[in-house]
Amino acid sequence: MPYVKEVFEYLKRSSPSQKEFYQAAEEVLESLRPLMVKYPKYRKHKIIERIVEPERQILFRVNWVDDNGEIQVNKGYRIEFNSALGPYKGGLRFHPSVNAGVIKFLGFEQIFKNSLTGLQIGGGKGGSDFNPKGKSDNEVMRFCQAFMSELFRHIGANTDVPAGDIGVGGREIGYMFGMYKKLANKYEGVLTGKSLKWGGSLARTEATGYGAVYFAQYMLEDRGETLEGKKCVVSGSGNVSIYTIEKLYHLGAVPVTCSDSNGMIYDEAGIDLELLKDLKEIRRERLSEYVKSRPNAKYTPIEEYPEDCNGVYTIPCFAAFPSATQNELNLKDAKNLLSNGCICVSEGANMPSTLEAVHAFIDAKICYGPGKAANAGGVATSQLEMQQNASMCSWTFEEVDAKLAQIMKNIYTNASITAAEFGEPTNLVLGANIAGFRKVADAMIEQGLV
Ligand code: NAP
Repeated sequence: MPYVKEVFEYLKRSSPSQKEFYQAAEEVLESLRPLMVKYPKYRKHKIIERIVEPERQILFRVNWVDDNGEIQVNKGYRIEFNSALGPYKGGLRFHPSVNAGVIKFLGFEQIFKNSLTGLQIGGGKGGSDFNPKGKSDNEVMRFCQAFMSELFRHIGANTDVPAGDIGVGGREIGYMFGMYKKLANKYEGVLTGKSLKWGGSLARTEATGYGAVYFAQYMLEDRGETLEGKKCVVSGSGNVSIYTIEKLYHLGAVPVTCSDSNGMIYDEAGIDLELLKDLKEIRRERLSEYVKSRPNAKYTPIEEYPEDCNGVYTIPCFAAFPSATQNELNLKDAKNLLSNGCICVSEGANMPSTLEAVHAFIDAKICYGPGKAANAGGVATSQLEMQQNASMCSWTFEEVDAKLAQIMKNIYTNASITAAEFGEPTNLVLGANIAGFRKVADAMIEQGLV
């Protein structure tokens, strides 16, 4: 059995029922074959066997009391996957679908993503199966405090620095920071995505979405194309989606869709960004409310999507920005996009495309930016927030945005040069995986067997 296949089979035996993790691992391990053949040192040092095992996994109970005085119990997770390049860094996700396999796939992806940024950050991830939807502010606060009452002993500004992800935005980061500060008796940059009033970085909120659009811009530039005047589809309507839409407008594109877990909006004239921000960032409402203020737009609930399809990807477009969640884009969706003339897919979400969809994009040789490269702008800007906290200074929006654009450019160049080095110049999955892995692997060898 080939070496990477052997490791993959071992993973399935040793970590049962973690399908999202197998999917992420399979994609990375497959890409590493040519590297392993060319450089036997990685096999000699058993880097693959070591890198698929997290350095530390923390699973804990979170007890809290809801507004009716009822005791609630949730699971809390933090996975400290790899610290070869720096302190563990990665978001916290609060969503009922969170389980050990989901956190493990996100943590595994984070190792290579963080490496690709060129900054000194290791890979980590965490979260809970807590569902913030429909909870009062006080309930969210009590949950965040209970969550941090265990997590605080494992993290620190030079140890492990969590950030936001699905269900964790500025409000949750604020409550968790407050509790950390009280318990640790330290005011330090232990979380990123903080409020601008007390240690956050300008442009952090915008960074993941902006970064995914910069990445698309750089992929397209190499083919003599631009986004200007082009129709684009975006999925999701959270942090990443909103700022993807904003940056698309800056570049003269026309984003026509967004979605949530109940349905999608198709607004041919272009999504009304101010309305979307008001609905999602201020009122925290469902997307179905959008059409009340925008009667020419169309709302389609997911029950009415064509069979086995995500409605967003049935809309003809030049470029697609999957920005909601994992496996939201399957082979049928990929075929819909390709047959309707889509030539660019830049992933704001983590692993939004199934393996079959990824292969369809690679085979079609379109501009395909896999999540670990295209959405790395968020974590890169989190690291810029850490830099500002450590030096007790703050940079302007323009300074941070310019650094973000440069980091995205470097990631694109690194992935595409590496793809060419291994004989597949348009395959950025191969390029990103090998480039991300190589840096971590070399650091692991140099740091010895720890
Ligand atoms: P968010 O603000 O919580 O928004 C998530 C969006 O995705 C919401 O519109 C949500 O709809 C939708 N969604 C979530 N789960 C879904 C499901 N199972 N089916 C359909 N729609 C679903 O989260 P976010 O920060 O934008 O994150 C979105 C994606 O980007 C995630 O994959 C995340 O890991 C990735 N990412 C985020 C960052 C960052 O800086 N925030 C950085 C890198 C990657 P509902 O409101 O109906 O749930």
